[in-house]
Amino acid sequence: MASESPKKNWSINDFEIGKPLGKGKFGRVYLARESKSKYIVALKVIFKEQIEKYRLQHQLKREMAIQTSLRHPHVLRLYGWFHDAERIFLILEYAHGGELYGELRRAGYLSEQQAATYIASLTHALAYCHEKHVIHRDIKPENLLLDHEGRLKIADFGWSVQSTNKRHTMCGTLDYLAPEMVENKAHDYAVDNWTLGVLCYEFLYGVPPFEADSQADTFRRIMKVDLTFPSTPHVSTEAKDLILQLLVKDSAKRLPLDKILKHPWIIMNADPNGSFPE
Ligand code: AMP
Repeated sequence: MASESPKKNWSINDFEIGKPLGKGKFGRVYLARESKSKYIVALKVIFKEQIEKYRLQHQLKREMAIQTSLRHPHVLRLYGWFHDAERIFLILEYAHGGELYGELRRAGYLSEQQAATYIASLTHALAYCHEKHVIHRDIKPENLLLDHEGRLKIADFGWSVQSTNKRHTMCGTLDYLAPEMVENKAHDYAVDNWTLGVLCYEFLYGVPPFEADSQADTFRRIMKVDLTFPSTPHVSTEAKDLILQLLVKDSAKRLPLDKILKHPWIIMNADPNGSFPE
């Protein structure tokens, strides 16, 4: 499984199914083991009926094609897929640590070292995706998984898009969206840079920066870049400086990925063992 050799046609008989790992919008995820190699994977089971009901066939195909083509230590591998009459099965890299979201909610907020390590990992992964002309567009804590050593893995390429042109489609979850996305304007790679700023804030303060009671208020706050830093003593000036350089309305003026990796806050705090460059 881990080898790069293109495999035969997989079927459910090739796997021993273990405990359920979670439930998503379109199906369940199970721990599984490939019977021959004993290789542990996560098997995502999606019901065709659901996909057809929401007319998501094309999107799913796109997600699968993109995720299969990406090979990066911080991008969750999709090893392959197969289907039977009712279901589609995705053979995914197993992320033993589960959702980063869970860790964030349990801890309230993360230390600067942990936050910087995750931001550096994400930045490396996004630089790799952008090089391959993939914009993720739906980076949020629920889509970030952790492996057995706590290393971050970007999952769920459902909303990502492979393109060299500016895009127009409205998609994603409001809290993490850049102004040009909520306004449904053309957007490019810099939408992911904005999201890095939102995540950096959420990692350090425990809540996303533009959170509001209604979608309309979140929309207004994003458009105004209505950013305030709570007077919590645990967040350094350098961290706030990085956030301020990412949450910039003009997408061309956001700090580029290579400069994020050279930012003093990242240099001072990120654990080089926790984030692998390409
Ligand atoms: P999803 O359908 O992708 O939203 O997945 C539902 C839940 O299953 C997630 O919230 C995770 O907790 C869990 N999960 C999904 N993929 C994996 C994976 N590759 N490794 C471990 N857990 C996973």
